[in-house]
Amino acid sequence: MIRYRKKLKEERPEEYRRQADRHVARAKKRREEQRIESERKVRSRQAGIKRAQRAAASDEASDVPIPQTPPSTPNSKAASIVDLIEKSTPTTSQILNASNVKKSVERQAEKDIVDATSASMKIPEVRTKIVDKLKGGASNKGAVSRRLDISRNHFYYQSRKGKSPRTTAATKNLVEEYYHNEEVVTVYPNKQKNGSVLRVLKYPLRMVYGMFRTQNPGVTVGKSTFMKWRPRTVKLMKTAKCYQCLCDVCENLKMVSTAIKTSMSRSGLPTPSYLDDLKALSDGTVCDPRAFKCIDRQCLTCGPDMIRPHFTEWIQDNVSNKVQFAQWKRTSDEIVNGKRISKMKRVIVDGYRWELWQTLALQLKSFPLHQYNNLGQLRQYSLAKKHLKPHQAICVVDFAENFTCHGSADAQSTHFARNSVTVHPNVIIFSQDYHIFRDAVDIISDDLSHDADAVYVFVQTLSAHMTKYYPDITDLIIFSDGCAAQYKSKKPMRHLAQNFDIPQNILWNFYGSRHGKGEADGESAVIKGTLTRSIAAQSLTLADANDCYKHLVNSGFERKEGLSRRHLYMVCKAEIDIKRESELSGVCTVPGIRARIHQARSGGEGTLQYRRSSCFCLDNCLHDPGNTWKTFFYPG
Ligand SMILES: [Zn+2]
Ligand SMILES: [Zn+2]
Ligand SMILES: [Zn+2]
Repeated sequence: MIRYRKKLKEERPEEYRRQADRHVARAKKRREEQRIESERKVRSRQAGIKRAQRAAASDEASDVPIPQTPPSTPNSKAASIVDLIEKSTPTTSQILNASNVKKSVERQAEKDIVDATSASMKIPEVRTKIVDKLKGGASNKGAVSRRLDISRNHFYYQSRKGKSPRTTAATKNLVEEYYHNEEVVTVYPNKQKNGSVLRVLKYPLRMVYGMFRTQNPGVTVGKSTFMKWRPRTVKLMKTAKCYQCLCDVCENLKMVSTAIKTSMSRSGLPTPSYLDDLKALSDGTVCDPRAFKCIDRQCLTCGPDMIRPHFTEWIQDNVSNKVQFAQWKRTSDEIVNGKRISKMKRVIVDGYRWELWQTLALQLKSFPLHQYNNLGQLRQYSLAKKHLKPHQAICVVDFAENFTCHGSADAQSTHFARNSVTVHPNVIIFSQDYHIFRDAVDIISDDLSHDADAVYVFVQTLSAHMTKYYPDITDLIIFSDGCAAQYKSKKPMRHLAQNFDIPQNILWNFYGSRHGKGEADGESAVIKGTLTRSIAAQSLTLADANDCYKHLVNSGFERKEGLSRRHLYMVCKAEIDIKRESELSGVCTVPGIRARIHQARSGGEGTLQYRRSSCFCLDNCLHDPGNTWKTFFYPG
């Protein structure tokens, strides 16, 4: 405004002066009006005072002659009092009301009824009767309940009598189960509370409720009840301040789309809504997010170019404008002890708008497959849990980060010679007599290799445990991440083809790459938390794996009864070394192992059966028809 006036003064002085004059005149007029108004107020106030004085004077004068004769009979006295009361001003009647003077006969009767009713309301049978009677007539439940001094819930509760209750215990179970569904929660990797696993929601609660409703259309549960039933161990999204195990593929796409969105809104262009939602973004580039042809990018009709029209205007709007965005990149320029170490690093990238679009298109090319594997496998995990048969058990396995032995009063020098301990939790879930049991079989070892042979021995230990405690279970449905060295490469596949030489049948399922967070992570947090806390509290010194194992067993860490159990096993390095030295013939790579195998089992006689996606859907399978079992024959 100021700049505009300055410009006006320089360019068109006459116009400026005319405006200034008009401004001054308007201000003068306003001041004059204010003056007149305030004078009028003063005058009226003075007039009021004079009028009051005059009235007081005339009152004194008129006090003396009262021409009417005062009521002499009791009847006329009462009549004149009633007349006075009834003709009283609202303020006066309020005061009379408060002092119980003006209370009509009906009102008194009403009060008596209410008093009597309130007293009898204390007897349950009478109360039911009264409420039943009132129910029909009481249109204003709030007012009636206030009068009777009872909770208005009585009416609502009674009025639902005879109808089916709004929510049932089965619904509550369903909701609580949904709060443990891997699609909507992740296990906190390094946190636990009172020995139970903590989970954190991936989406806002409102969105989770929406997802629940779409997945369970027949179930009626309100939003507030749904929120109320959230278990205490499931934390809200906002609590996950810094999540340590992010997927770089998802994060990179998120950062690119956010950069594009910001740049678009800065240019004043409409932003497509799917830029906030990775799933919608990826689904926008395929005909069918479940069809193998499309997610493998062999379909000729779909691809990232499908969404290009939304961005053409933005790219052409300011071609020379650069945009900054961050990306996670694997770098290997660091050398430690003569070895190249590859590390994930956050790099800031500078690019033109078309380069940014190309980055997005390139990432979107492979993203639908990543998305399909992740969400699909998590979905299958929850389905497997839901459709569990009595002879089956689900087992989630994973290596935890090594625990470093230490003591409460370590000497400085020991910092350099600390022993590490391998922790390999196997969380078994099985159902018996309509109850879901959970048994955490935690294996502790001093072998630090974390390789396929270690896994082989751990599976054998697990099998022995199953035979000892649960001989009826014949099928083991194992879920693990797709870590190549441990579970998903030629050697572990060869072990699997031989069914790990155990009596139970193994059906091995792999989570999508970089998204294998499950029960096992929470369990390892429980073990390590317990060890760390007891070291601090009991002034212990734990030197190696054996110490840790003995301490945990002696402190009653194991729980052999109940719905949630826990067992501990110690596997020595020597045992694994025996396996390592033995010959394993016919080890060779199975084609498509990285992204196109997510379920595998032994096909008998040393052959391997595998398919792209796990399928526990039972009757209504939504998988691509190409998701069939294929057999791999090992040479020799
Ligand atoms: Zn991801
Ligand atoms: Zn397609
Ligand atoms: Zn299926």
